[in-house]
Amino acid sequence: MRITIVEGDITIQDVDAIVNAANSSLLGGGGVDGAIHRAAGEELLEHCRELRARDWPEGLPPGRAASTPAGRLPADHVIHTVGPNRRAGQTDPDVLASCFRESLAEAVRLGVRRVAFPAIGAGVYGWDADDVAAAAHQVLTDESSRWEPLDEVRFVLFSEAVAAVFRRRML
Ligand code: ADP
Repeated sequence: MRITIVEGDITIQDVDAIVNAANSSLLGGGGVDGAIHRAAGEELLEHCRELRARDWPEGLPPGRAASTPAGRLPADHVIHTVGPNRRAGQTDPDVLASCFRESLAEAVRLGVRRVAFPAIGAGVYGWDADDVAAAAHQVLTDESSRWEPLDEVRFVLFSEAVAAVFRRRML
């Protein structure tokens, strides 16, 4: 399994699954969530409504992950995960690590080979990019045998500054 780090837009990545930094409602929001819903179209929102009604009527809790088809995106699947909202007092880094663990586990369960992640929690939810990179790195290294079915885990960062932070932790 290769770890790659690129600066760019996660919505245009040529991978099998992309991870969305969603909120508990699963019904869209700002930041990367908004960009993913805009690029994927109304079909993604419809899948999210169904997922919520079927499995998460109270909303998806922080640290959990669940997937839907990806609508008009190049990817086949969107794996939705909810970061801990540091600005709202959710300061446990284990919950951030759980976002990466559960999302990777969902990618393995889906049988995909290439999965792309944004910097979950590093936007509106207020985490330092280095805390996010450290949480991801910990899960990838501590449980590396679980992720062997994957060929590539790609981190797609929206700025060169954040990409540099991820490179420093991962490579
Ligand atoms: P959270 O609420 O989990 O903090 P945000 O969407 O606010 O999520 O931000 C998470 C990260 O995603 C931030 O670093 C932000 O700059 C980045 N981001 C925003 N849009 C995109 C995009 N299209 N592709 C990749 N990353 C993005």
